[in-house]
Amino acid sequence: MGKHGIVIVGASHAGISCAEKLRQFGYDGTVTIIDKIADTPYQRPPLSKSYLSADTASEESFYLRSEQWFDSHDITLLTGIEVVSIDCDAHQINTDDGQQHNYSKLILATGASPRSLSDEMHQLDGVTVLRDVQDARQIKRLLKDGINGQQISSVAIIGGGYIGLEIAASLRKQQIEVHLVELADRVLARVASPLLSQYCEDLHSQHGAKLITGAGLDTIISDAGQISAITLSSGQNIPAQLVIAGIGVIPETSLARNAGLKIDNGIIVSADYASSEPDIYAIGDVARAPEHAPIRVESVHHAQFSAMRVAAHICEVQPARAESWWFWSDQYDVKFQMAGLLPASDVGLTHSVRAGRKEHAQSVWSFHHGTLVCVEAANDPQAYMIGKFCLENHISPDKTSLEDDGFDLKSLMKRQ
Ligand code: FAD
Repeated sequence: MGKHGIVIVGASHAGISCAEKLRQFGYDGTVTIIDKIADTPYQRPPLSKSYLSADTASEESFYLRSEQWFDSHDITLLTGIEVVSIDCDAHQINTDDGQQHNYSKLILATGASPRSLSDEMHQLDGVTVLRDVQDARQIKRLLKDGINGQQISSVAIIGGGYIGLEIAASLRKQQIEVHLVELADRVLARVASPLLSQYCEDLHSQHGAKLITGAGLDTIISDAGQISAITLSSGQNIPAQLVIAGIGVIPETSLARNAGLKIDNGIIVSADYASSEPDIYAIGDVARAPEHAPIRVESVHHAQFSAMRVAAHICEVQPARAESWWFWSDQYDVKFQMAGLLPASDVGLTHSVRAGRKEHAQSVWSFHHGTLVCVEAANDPQAYMIGKFCLENHISPDKTSLEDDGFDLKSLMKRQ
């Protein structure tokens, strides 16, 4: 290892996890984490869930790590500083405060940025996205104080992915009128089985959220900077004073691209998350590791897994065994837990639905040409846990058994 320490760009789930693992695996050189957000790093998942719906919770309970944690792990955290360029030959990065930092290893954990609506729409007061704590604070402030003195009674959410649905649930809990608009013919079309999409649509309808699928946003109607409604591609008019876009993210690759790293919908990395440039790694949402997944995985699990792989590679320790990909979501009183990945195409895909023991509990087991590839559980932690076990141990349960209420799921765990 060179005399300079490790520099990590991005103090979020991936970057902080990597610093923690480096210390756990015995790395005793300097570790510096730099982030352009001038705030204590926050957990992102609660921002659309408990943070948005809670009125009084202390902000500290959403910190990724306490301020003391960085001291006790001898990790230097520099916030409010943007890394603007990398000089790969000199093993040096340049920051927007005019400083240079040398590195022996550089870890890019720059994440992703939310896609926004057109520039013209995005500039309007009352059009926003939700990616970081500053966005979440702004949404909470607008809901409380209104915009230009006018209270918000109706919100339009553009995009029916997990974040859009979680925001809808958090707002409905506060009795705010919500319209959620999704261009595809079902919510979660990109990431979930049609059966889980249907479950979600029913859940939201029961809670009074108005879901509109198969239509896109056409125009935002505003007068003197005040939004009053949106118009959809179908011609429908919807009242709204606040518009929140949840239309996906774009990986933050500009730093890597300018430094000449290989990019293709993310920074392309090896199984150890090493980039195409020596001594530079990429982890979390910004990294695409074809040896681990056909797509770029955006989740806390991927952030932690990739962080662990890099730390293990640098410290020359054996990495922990890979789990199947997992993800969760909370909407109303339902906990969704997913394991595995669905293929992009429906060809060869079949599903089995199984009712759980609790009310409204359900799991969807998806098979690709007969092999179990994904389990999606709603309020059914047992099905999730056993499904994940099956995926990790290459067990493909029989579809007929799964659909039989009398079938004991636990028996699958004896088949290893
Ligand atoms: P990010 O969290 O995007 O962090 C990247 C960091 O890099 C940022 O802090 C950014 O400021 C910094 N940065 C970027 N460029 C620079 C630069 N040039 N200089 C300095 N700093 C820079 N996942 C789940 O598994 N379950 C969930 O329930 C879930 N819910 C979510 C809810 C919300 C509202 C959001 C936004 C995400 C959610 N996710 C969830 C996704 C999860 O949060 C992400 O997968 C995770 O945050 C990725 O971590 P990351 O460290 O790779 O990137």
